[in-house]
Amino acid sequence: MSDEHIHQNFETRAIHAGNTADPLTGAVVPPIYQVSTYKQDGVGGLRGGYEYSRSANPTRTALEENLAALEGGRRGLAFASGLAAEDCLLRALLVPGDHVVIPNDAYGGTFRLFAKVASRWGVEWSVADTSDPAAVRDALTERTKAIWVETPSNPLLGITDIAALADVARTAGVKLVVDNTFASPYLQQPLALGADVVVHSLTKYMGGHSDVVGGALVTADEALGEELAYHQNAMGAVAGPFDSWIVLRGIKTLAVRMDRHCANAERVARMLVEHPKVTQVLYPGLPEHPGHEVAAKQMRGYGGMVSFRVAGGEEAAVAVCDRAKLFTLGESLGGVESLIEHPGRMTHASAAGSALEVPADLVRLSVGIENVEDLLADLRQALG
Ligand SMILES: *Cc1c(COP(=O)(O)O)cnc(C)c1O
Repeated sequence: MSDEHIHQNFETRAIHAGNTADPLTGAVVPPIYQVSTYKQDGVGGLRGGYEYSRSANPTRTALEENLAALEGGRRGLAFASGLAAEDCLLRALLVPGDHVVIPNDAYGGTFRLFAKVASRWGVEWSVADTSDPAAVRDALTERTKAIWVETPSNPLLGITDIAALADVARTAGVKLVVDNTFASPYLQQPLALGADVVVHSLTKYMGGHSDVVGGALVTADEALGEELAYHQNAMGAVAGPFDSWIVLRGIKTLAVRMDRHCANAERVARMLVEHPKVTQVLYPGLPEHPGHEVAAKQMRGYGGMVSFRVAGGEEAAVAVCDRAKLFTLGESLGGVESLIEHPGRMTHASAAGSALEVPADLVRLSVGIENVEDLLADLRQALG
């Protein structure tokens, strides 16, 4: 992050980092530089280093500087989607024969990227319960190059102790990658806890309004940052200027949105715990959650995602999703509007039959920032 922002608090950085007033007009918001190429002042005479928008674009630069500042990193890179960011990271870190430890509870698309795509290029992977550092240590092989962590995880809201796994990774000489999508940098700072790279789906809390798909990588390691930037340009799945702009706009309200997401999710989780049709509530803010203490140590709040299991099994869980009205039935998460889904048939259908298969009676909520009484009323009627 630039020195200018290093002493500022998170909320201030979210609004100002990368958002310098436009030098030409003084516009307080970075313009959307919807352009592919740049006039050169003589051959090689680039203005501000810009020559072609796959390599760099000023609107994307604004977002990338902002992302680096928010995660406490030195290099932020913005991609066309979270999976494009993950693919770039895999290809920059790994060669055929290398091995990665992945969580037993990962985003379905991440699992698919390893199981169906990277495996065809000779990248090996195995699954471990990342909430248990000893299990991760046992899963390491001579060819392990990275440990991949998602915390809180999706959709089971498991918690991994990032600092403990950073120790495991450092001792083994492998990289620790943390997908920080569910927490956002407002709630959790993986680089400060020892992670090497943070992955984001900007589509979720960072954008925050269900109106854009994007991804990011952030690292504090300059050399690794250079390597990732080289691959970003060489592979080309960059975030476009408009998408960069709309994510940057969303990030300005990240802190206030996350406070409300957390407060609403906590109320929803407490109501569900008391509900007779609910057999289990998965929310790291609940004292009975197995990861509660670690979450309290490494997170500023417990997030807006709540999963629960419904008495009566799969059909009952699907029926709850179908009856919800204010909670919109849909995939994705992290927007201001509340969403409900059945992971087994929707987001995690591709994990069926694998070690990552999710319980059939599971319902996942992305609790939005509407009035919480309205949300509670909708869930009560949906549960019947
Ligand atoms: C959505 C998501 C991704 C993938 O991001 P896209 O923007 O959909 O490509 C990765 N990790 C997590 C935790 C996600 O929720």
